[in-house]
Amino acid sequence: MKLCLILALSLWAHAAAPGAAKSPPSAWDAFSTLQTGNMRFYEGHPEHPNQEPAHRESLATGQHPHTIVVSCSDSRVPPETIFDQGLGDLFTVRLAGNVMTTEAIASIEYAIEHLGSRLLIVMGHESCGAVGAAVASTPGVSNGSESLDVLVRQIRDNLSSASVTSAASDKTFRLGVKENVTASLKTLLQKSEIVRSAITKSGLVVGQAIYSLKSGRVEFWDVGRLVDGGIPPEKVTIKEQVVSEEIILADKQAKPKKPAARSKTLAH
Ligand SMILES: [Zn+2]
Repeated sequence: MKLCLILALSLWAHAAAPGAAKSPPSAWDAFSTLQTGNMRFYEGHPEHPNQEPAHRESLATGQHPHTIVVSCSDSRVPPETIFDQGLGDLFTVRLAGNVMTTEAIASIEYAIEHLGSRLLIVMGHESCGAVGAAVASTPGVSNGSESLDVLVRQIRDNLSSASVTSAASDKTFRLGVKENVTASLKTLLQKSEIVRSAITKSGLVVGQAIYSLKSGRVEFWDVGRLVDGGIPPEKVTIKEQVVSEEIILADKQAKPKKPAARSKTLAH
C-alpha cells in the first residue's frame, strides 16, 4: 500500500512537472509570450519567470521550448533576458551576425523535430558589429583571419548597396541588419526540408525581428510570412494568423496581442 502511494505520488509529480510533461504552446501563444515578455523587460519590470529550483529540477527530464530564437552572439542581446523568459523556454542559436551556417540549421532542425518548438524568430540587433564589419569591408583586404573573412563575406553578400550607403549616416546599420535577418531566414528556408515541412504540415511559424540596444524593444515583422525564394507559393498555405507589416509594441501603451486571425496563402 505504501509502495503504491509513493508510486502514485511519483507519477503525479512527473505529470505535473512544468518542463517535462507538457507540450509546447502553439506558435501564436508563443509569439504573445515573447511580446509580453519583451514589454516587461523594456519597461523595466521583468519577472524572471521559470527560474525557481522546482522548475529547474522538472526540466531535468525533458524540455519543450516554445520558441527557437536565432540571434547574434553579442553580449548585449541574450534572448532569455530581453524576452524575460526562463529555463526551458527558448531554444537559442547564437552566432555573430546571426548567420545561417550548417550547424545553425542543424540546431534549428533538432529543436523542431525533437523538442516540438513551433515558433522560430530570426533576430538581429541595431549596431551589430558583424554587420558593421561587413559594411566597412573592402574586397581583397583581410579582416584578420580566414574565419573572420568567411563570416564577413557571408554577411556582406546579404547586404544591398543601399544598406551599405545608408551606414554612413546610420551607425546602427538598421537597414543592413534587417536585410541580413531576412537573408538568414531565406537561407534556412532554402536549405532545410525539415523547416519547410514543419511550416506546411506542423504549424511552424517563422518571423523576423530587430532589437534596439538603447530602448530594449524588439520589433517584429513578417511573422507568419515567408521571404521570397523559400518555398514555391503553390505549396504553401498556412491557415493561421499573419502579421503582414512591421509591428509590434508601437508605444509603451500598446498592449501586445495576437494578430487578427485570417487565412493566408504565402506567396512572393
Ligand atoms: Zn551582432
